Amino acid sequence: MKDKNCIFCKIIGGEIPSAKVYEDDKMLVFKDIEPKAKVHLLAIGKDHFGFISEMDSSREELLKYMFSKIPGIAAENGCENGYRLVINQGKDAGQTVFHLHIHIMGGETLPW
Ligand code: AMP
Repeated sequence: MKDKNCIFCKIIGGEIPSAKVYEDDKMLVFKDIEPKAKVHLLAIGKDHFGFISEMDSSREELLKYMFSKIPGIAAENGCENGYRLVINQGKDAGQTVFHLHIHIMGGETLPW
């Protein structure tokens, strides 16, 4: 399910370009446009939903699938020595894009 106003749905649909590092029928991983670490990737599901609070059984399956793929994708993209996963939820966390996404940050010793 897509949201026509969502920037990440537009990236999935190819309307907005992105530096893709992995794609399959369920998920997409691309480089963050404003990297906060040497390697900063964003993993998104192809089902549009904004928040963990919107989780249901099919979305649980999608999230499980994404977490199962992330270690290999991270290792292939310069995070062999570790990485940090972050999901910002809502205003207090500074979430700016309301399509659930997992930040994958690494490629260096993280400063915090
Ligand atoms: P968040 O603050 O958790 O909602 O993170 C949104 C992330 O999306 C930020 O790190 C942005 O730099 C990133 N971002 C926004 N637009 C794009 C884009 N067109 N391509 C890649 N990354 C983007």
